[in-house]
Amino acid sequence: MAGSKVTVGNVEIVSLLDTPMEFPWAAFFPSVPQAEFEAYRDLYPGSFGADKFRTYAQCSALRSAGKTVLVDTGVGTGMGGRLLDDMADKGVSSRDEVDVVVFTHLHMDHVAWNLGADGKPNFPNARYMVPQGDWDAFTKPDVAAQNPHIGTMVAPLKDLGVMDLFSGETAITEELTTYPTPGHTPGHTSILVSSGGEKAFIAGDLAHHPAQVDRTEWCGAFDGDPAQAIESRNKVFDQLEADGLIAMICHFPEPGFGKLVRLEGKRVFQAL
Ligand SMILES: [Zn+2]
Repeated sequence: MAGSKVTVGNVEIVSLLDTPMEFPWAAFFPSVPQAEFEAYRDLYPGSFGADKFRTYAQCSALRSAGKTVLVDTGVGTGMGGRLLDDMADKGVSSRDEVDVVVFTHLHMDHVAWNLGADGKPNFPNARYMVPQGDWDAFTKPDVAAQNPHIGTMVAPLKDLGVMDLFSGETAITEELTTYPTPGHTPGHTSILVSSGGEKAFIAGDLAHHPAQVDRTEWCGAFDGDPAQAIESRNKVFDQLEADGLIAMICHFPEPGFGKLVRLEGKRVFQAL
């Protein structure tokens, strides 16, 4: 297994594990028979539990241009998350050093460490960048009612004056740019890292099981717009394969770094 840190030009990417999780196959991938996944068990043993889909709530810390940028804040203490401890273990030792938190999207497993028990931000010096498309979608009254974490974990950032909405391709630093990859959610966003002639791609929830780099048409239950999710997967995975970029995919086996390569006609996620 690769280490938890990768260097891309002058940018350091630190993969952070909040917690592994397991779900019944039929609940997570209701439209794909479990037996279909079995063809991928030998390639991706880390994504198979005993009889469940094994997945990971991961975040990443990017050190770029003198800043520390945290991508997503995990699933939180309610599901046994240990993000803050993992940050300390991997050298992101102080919550104070995070300058920017950027969200790939607003599902609960990506925002849950935003606030401490005291209601104050866990990253007290950070601005929090929220995709406009997700903010608009998830704050609609009927949607917010079904997603109570928006009211408890996201909306307070606005009230506290630390939230910035963004859309499209927006510079976070001169080396980090947001890149729209809609479908999983309306505002779902990836992060393109470009530094010193090297590039990498933080892909958020563009896929959940590594078999999906080959079977891009397979959708999870939480892909809000399946057709658009498939379109984004095809577009980005074709490009990552063609250019040989390092990708970090949040829910893939830790640390989530890999490249997309062809092996006997199949596109494969080759972990670093
Ligand atoms: Zn997720």
